[in-house]
Amino acid sequence: MYPYNRYYRVIFQRDDYIGWHAGNWDVSTRSVAICIDGNFESNTPDSVVLKSIAGLINNKYKNVNSILGHNEVNKNTICPGNKFLEEWKSTLIKLIRAG
Ligand SMILES: [Zn+2]
Repeated sequence: MYPYNRYYRVIFQRDDYIGWHAGNWDVSTRSVAICIDGNFESNTPDSVVLKSIAGLINNKYKNVNSILGHNEVNKNTICPGNKFLEEWKSTLIKLIRAG
């Protein structure tokens, strides 16, 4: 999702395709990736973006077991930024659970 002034860009890959999105084959075969465009080393995605992601997950995936940051499954990346675990992962999970 790409907040750019007044629109978002959403790109879907078919869920029956297995991508190399996680950089960890086992995880890639049983997960989907949601990419947020931006630099989240010093910023946190705003509430509109987080609500959009929660809505996407709730509309498309009914039995989500976990939300993992990219670097939780692939230590070779800093994605999605060091604020994910401490600041916005829990917010995202709350938004998903709130439905
Ligand atoms: Zn990533």
